[in-house]
Amino acid sequence: MGQTAIAVPQQVREVVEAVVATLGEAKPESSPAVVAASFEATALRAEIIHVGRKLWQRQYVDGNGGNISVRIGESYVLCTPTLLSKGDLVPADICLADLDGNILAGDRSRTSELLLHLEIYKANPKARAVVHCHPPYATAYAITGTIPPNGLIPEYEVFVGPAAVAPYETPGTQAFAETVLPFVEKHNTILLQNHGIVCWSDTVTHAEYLAEIIDTYCKTYLIAKQIGVPLTTIPEEKIQEILALKRRMGLPDARLTDVPETVTPGADLEQLVARVQARLEEQ
Ligand SMILES: [Zn+2]
Repeated sequence: MGQTAIAVPQQVREVVEAVVATLGEAKPESSPAVVAASFEATALRAEIIHVGRKLWQRQYVDGNGGNISVRIGESYVLCTPTLLSKGDLVPADICLADLDGNILAGDRSRTSELLLHLEIYKANPKARAVVHCHPPYATAYAITGTIPPNGLIPEYEVFVGPAAVAPYETPGTQAFAETVLPFVEKHNTILLQNHGIVCWSDTVTHAEYLAEIIDTYCKTYLIAKQIGVPLTTIPEEKIQEILALKRRMGLPDARLTDVPETVTPGADLEQLVARVQARLEEQ
């Protein structure tokens, strides 16, 4: 091992280019029936059910409130049904819909809030999963139409950053769905005025994390204010370190003026070729 240096950059380049080209090719979309029966759909339904229980146990979804969806492929979403507690879901309850909100598979009617989820997916391709819920502390802020101050807890700065408040509209309507549009690029967590919150992320699990992070932050801040002494804040230069981290992680933040980095196949072919070449020479 290690005795033969492989100096074949041209061949390496050709292989890397072929892999990158394959990754970038649009794959033909499967039929709804195939998608609904796929292993991926089974796993995503299980994740939705698990997250639904977490939301209910945390008292973030009252009655039949709240809803969860996730994209599957480029043309479909799996989503929770209407009029069911998120604590009691079973796989057959989860609906398959297209990006226009038409139900393609599943026994129940989809959530009326799917329109909100779909607007987010269409406006921001980075959003692959959406969780809407009514966590009490964050919703308390939503009732005031204000957001909690930033700069108090690193967890909140890294994963959420400044939240936004979308104006009130009647839930379930297209007008309501569109209230979040000005905010979905730079905010992954949005307060819905006089209603609740909506969070997007790469997975359902991660979108639920955001709900936990903002609700705990609001709760902790409200408790800290009652202690009766001035709060300390994270120094500005340390906030800048967090923002640099967010840029590298590709996380949105309204304080970032440039576009966060995103890792896409073939984004830097030269770097990829060099890394493959270096790895081959190591062996
Ligand atoms: Zn709601």
